[in-house]
Amino acid sequence: MTAPLTENRTPGFVAQAEERTAHNYHPLPVVVSHAEGAWMTDVDGKRYLDLLAGYSALNFGHGHPALLRAAHEQLDKVTLTSRAFVHDQFGDFCAALGDLCGKELVLPMNTGAEAVETAIKVSRKWGYDVKGVPADQANIVVAAGNFHGRTTTIVGFSDDSDARDGFGPFAPGFTRVAYGDLAALEAAIDDNTVAVLIEPIQGEGGVVIPPEGYLRGVREICTRENVLFAADEIQSGLGRTGKTFACDHEGVVPDLYILGKALGGGIVPISAVVADRDVLGVLQPGQHGSTFGGNPLACAVATEVVGMLATGEYQDRAARLEKVLRDRLEALVGKGLVGVRVRGLWAGLDIDPAIGTGRAICEALMARGVLAKDTHGSTIRLAPPLVIDEADLLWGLDQLEAVLG
Ligand code: PLP
Repeated sequence: MTAPLTENRTPGFVAQAEERTAHNYHPLPVVVSHAEGAWMTDVDGKRYLDLLAGYSALNFGHGHPALLRAAHEQLDKVTLTSRAFVHDQFGDFCAALGDLCGKELVLPMNTGAEAVETAIKVSRKWGYDVKGVPADQANIVVAAGNFHGRTTTIVGFSDDSDARDGFGPFAPGFTRVAYGDLAALEAAIDDNTVAVLIEPIQGEGGVVIPPEGYLRGVREICTRENVLFAADEIQSGLGRTGKTFACDHEGVVPDLYILGKALGGGIVPISAVVADRDVLGVLQPGQHGSTFGGNPLACAVATEVVGMLATGEYQDRAARLEKVLRDRLEALVGKGLVGVRVRGLWAGLDIDPAIGTGRAICEALMARGVLAKDTHGSTIRLAPPLVIDEADLLWGLDQLEAVLG
């Protein structure tokens, strides 16, 4: 017999989940059982507007019909071959993603952190093989406030103590400079620098948008100094900011695009490094790989994702809804918010500490049927699915205004 919807099944699921899992997350106590578009439904039948979209992995919403179709069709054919063999989805995917990026080669992996690790390895190899950096001397310049994932190498160059403390010793070969500061970046570059690795907009940092001209400046410095520009567009890319890539806002093309999250349509994990042959071509058989990277199921879904992005429809939607989001959020500055940053359908809100923590605001939003996530104490990031209805977005912002008021 199925339980009646009036029964509150949430606490049981929450307790069960807590009991048998490592406590590396502090989830809101909502237990989702299904979802469609921008809406999720919990085990008790309550609906929530999803304003996080799986940290931008769900740019196309939950259960987009075209993506589900691509996944279902591929499930019945072949799901995994390993790269020991070629499969019929691989070439199409690499060609489509390469074309979207305007680059020659694609190297698929699974998670974002793996793609960042891949970019680090490729940059170092390029440094030794092409630039002529002495063995094991390669250096990569990164930004303060960065978030590139959770591997030991990556947290080693983070300045977030939660991410880093207790996990050393860390790999050498990284120099951290202030984000948005071109003079600091230029000063950090020397003969052994192989790459500058930055997020064009810092997502986990709270949707931190660098000063106008920064990305152009990074591009100019990298070109002049013979250093690769590696743009981590894992969260900022694939339509989120109203353009295909956040770098597009300054008309800048990096040497390496690092992609993930939305590439898998919220269905499968797939990430990629995309670059020209003179960069990605440095890898030879046996030097890098992944059992699941570029598997047929992930390629089938990701090819559909790339096709959807190629129409420009989702980028246009994010650009149009940016105004709605910006107007409503900017009106809340001084009324519960002390700062707001918006680019596309992506916003970082700094909550007035007098009102409550980011977590407390997210809990209050949850009670009103809106799901969002705090980051760094007093900041909340909003990243609704790009398919969200304008009326739903406005309703969600009404709830935010009520919670702050
Ligand atoms: N890079 C950026 C910019 C991210 O925002 C994230 C995740 O939030 C990552 C890398 C890591 O991605 P993943 O969690 O898939 O390893």
